[in-house]
Amino acid sequence: MTGEPTASRDVVVVGGGVAGLSAAVYTARQGLDTLVVDPGGSILRRNARLENFPGFPLGVDARRLLDLLGEQAETAGADRLDARVARVSPVDGDPDPAADAADGARFVVATDDGDRTRARHVVAATKNEVGYLADLDGVAIVDRGKEYVDADERGRTGVAGLYAAGRLARKPHQAAVCAGHGAEVAVTLLEESDEPFYHDWVAPEGYFTDRDRDVPPGCEEIDADERREREAAALDATRERFAEPHPDPQETHPSLED
Ligand SMILES: Cc1cc2nc3c(=O)[nH]c(=O)nc-3n(C[C@H](O)[C@H](O)[C@H](O)COP(=O)(O)OP(=O)(O)OC[C@H]3O[C@@H](n4cnc5c(N)ncnc54)[C@H](O)[C@@H]3O)c2cc1C
Repeated sequence: MTGEPTASRDVVVVGGGVAGLSAAVYTARQGLDTLVVDPGGSILRRNARLENFPGFPLGVDARRLLDLLGEQAETAGADRLDARVARVSPVDGDPDPAADAADGARFVVATDDGDRTRARHVVAATKNEVGYLADLDGVAIVDRGKEYVDADERGRTGVAGLYAAGRLARKPHQAAVCAGHGAEVAVTLLEESDEPFYHDWVAPEGYFTDRDRDVPPGCEEIDADERREREAAALDATRERFAEPHPDPQETHPSLED
């Protein structure tokens, strides 16, 4: 066993491209302690101009979108670790005397750097990288020239607590589809966890309560002042984020690099 005694999380998301970051937004917003592990290799960084992502009628710099999604996951409460996951192992095969056995962890997630995190849930969102799942019995890998994880529509893999999201789950090679699937997988995880959950909605004040309903778990009612305050903060932030072109260069296919 290497490294420090293992930290424990509700959710570890392996892969912080559009699928993984979208999943993290949803799990973190519901209060699940969420960690996203990613070394910064989203294939979307190779895009020249993203013109089909909903909400950007004139397109958006793909690197900007990844930054914004990362910021959104952090704003929701997720932590991010710049690292590559080397192994996800069953917790039973990896007893840690210093760990809290009552944390409900099913997995230990280990990075190349020796960081170890126990996790109740793992969302795998690594496009075509599957090697780190080799220790988990019951993960079916599909080889179609590239490797994918066999998962049902909601991202369930057959291993309790392990989900696959985005391209890794053989979703179409489109950013919006993979982001949407990340969100769907997170909602599935929330529905299957112990946390009470209805929908992640922000509704106007009275939407539920004026009809003698409690605000359902996962939902929030906000009044007009709160709505205006949030809108003002969002406008300021958006102006700042889009004030200048993104500084990062468009990446290219490794085979075209010098
Ligand atoms: C040149 C090009 C242009 C494109 N243009 C468009 C476009 O215009 N419109 C569109 O809709 N789609 C476009 N795409 C497709 C789009 O980029 C993908 O469909 C989308 O990024 C898939 O999302 P994902 O989250 O599943 O994978 P990714 O975004 O690739 O994210 C996977 C993440 O997993 C991480 N990872 C891998 N292994 C590990 C590990 N062991 N540990 C931790 N992290 C790991 C990587 O660092 C990466 O960040 C384009 C793709 C390319 C190549």
